[in-house]
Amino acid sequence: MKIGIVGLGYVGLVTAAVLADRGHYIVGVDIDENKVNGLNCGRIPIYEPGLEELLTKNRDRLHFTARYEELKDVELAFITVSTPTINGKIFLDYVYSAAKSLQVLPKDSIIVVKSTVVPSTSRRVKEISGREVVANPEFLREGSAILDTVRPDRIIIGSENAEAGNIVEELWKFTGSPILRTSLEEAELIKYTANSFLSLKISFINEIANLCEKLPNCDVKTIANAIGMDKRISPYFLDAGLGWGGSCFPKDTQAFVSFARDLGERLRTVEASIEVNNERPKRAVKMLKELMGSIKDKVICVLGIAFKPNTDDTRESVALKIIMQLSEEGAKVIAYDPRAKTDLAEMVSSKEECINRANGVIIVTEWKEFYGIEELLKGKYVVDGRRVLRKELMDKRYFRAIGLST
Ligand code: NAD
Repeated sequence: MKIGIVGLGYVGLVTAAVLADRGHYIVGVDIDENKVNGLNCGRIPIYEPGLEELLTKNRDRLHFTARYEELKDVELAFITVSTPTINGKIFLDYVYSAAKSLQVLPKDSIIVVKSTVVPSTSRRVKEISGREVVANPEFLREGSAILDTVRPDRIIIGSENAEAGNIVEELWKFTGSPILRTSLEEAELIKYTANSFLSLKISFINEIANLCEKLPNCDVKTIANAIGMDKRISPYFLDAGLGWGGSCFPKDTQAFVSFARDLGERLRTVEASIEVNNERPKRAVKMLKELMGSIKDKVICVLGIAFKPNTDDTRESVALKIIMQLSEEGAKVIAYDPRAKTDLAEMVSSKEECINRANGVIIVTEWKEFYGIEELLKGKYVVDGRRVLRKELMDKRYFRAIGLST
C-alpha cells in the first residue's frame, strides 16, 4: 500500500519504519521542515534502539516531506501528531489542523488516528476531513518501540465503517497479536484507561515504598515481588522509584481527569495517582539532604536525565525536576546520561567523571550501565532512586534507597 504518516516523532517514525519494512511505500509528513530535511539526508532526530537501522534498510520505500499535497494518492494516512496537555486539558489543534490538511487525500482513503486523543476526537476528525476514520491508538513504549509495534500485546481498531476497519486490521495482521474491534469512542477510551491504570500501579507501590522507609527491616522490592506473584495483580509496573514521567503518563492522566470533569464525573483514583507522583522528585532531594546534612555549595551528580532508559526523551523527566530543586537549594549539579542532554546542569561525558567530581549522587534513570557501580560510589553519599544498587554492598551511613528501611 501507499501510506501517509502525519507527524514524524517517536510514534510516526517507528510506524513508518515498521510498515516500510513490511513492503509498504511510506510518505511521511511533518510541519517541521528541518526535521524533514534531516530525515531525507538520513539524520534521525531521536534515539530509539533499532530505528536508524530499520529506516536505513528501507530507505527506498520512505519519503519525507513537509507538503501535504504529496499525500494525494495514498490509500491510507495515519495521524501521529503530538497531543500535549495545556493548562490540564488536551490540546487538539495539531490533530484538527492535520485533519484539515488531509482533505487532500483521495475521497475513498482512510484516516487512522494513532495519536492519543480523548473520546469523540476521531469523530471530529471524520467531520473535518470528510474521510472515513479509524481509531487505532498506539501502545508502544519508548526504548522498545519497534518490538512493541511488531509484537504488541493487542491491537485496538475502532471504527464505524466495518470495511475501513478491515483494511486497518489487514495491515496489522502480520503482528500475530490479538486484534479487538471496537467503536471509535471505546478505542479512544481504552488508551486513556490503560495509561491511567499503569500510572496507578506505580503510584500505589510508591506509597508502599514510603511506608517501608519508615518501618524496620522492610524492602519494597520484597513486597512488590510477593504481591506480583498473584496473577490478579501481575509483577509488571510494580517498581517503586522516583515516579513516572515522559511524554505520555503525565499529560494523559491530566487530560483524562479533566475530560471526566467536563462530563461531570471525577476520576479520584487517577487524581490521587497524579498527586502521589508529584511528590516523588522532592523525596529524592529530601533523602539526600537527610544523608548529607546540607547540600548547599555541594557538588551533586545526577545519573540519568532521560525519563527512562534506552531513550533520549527528557519530556517531563523526573531528573529535570530534581536538578531544578537541587539548584534552587544551592547545590552545583553535574549530570551524566548515555543519550539524553539538558541545559539545566553541566553535562559530563562519563559516569566515572560525574561520580568522582561529586559529594553526593542521585540515581534517577535505571540505565543498564548504572548497575554494578557500587565500588565506584565508595565514599560518596548516594540516593538510589531506581533501586539499581545491591543494598548489601552499600555502607548504610552513606546510602539511602527508595522503599528501603534506614
Ligand atoms: P512527538 O512530539 O515526538 O512528534 C509529533 C510530531 O508531529 C512532531 O514532529 C511535530 O512537528 C508533528 N506535527 C505537529 N502538528 C503537525 C501537523 N499538523 N502536521 C504534521 N506534523 C505535525 O510525538 P510522539 O511522542 O510521537 O507522540 C505522538 C502521539 O502518539 C501523541 O498523541 C502521543 O500521546 C501518542 N503516543 C506516544 C507514545 C510515545 O511513547 N511517545 C506512545 C503511545 C502513544
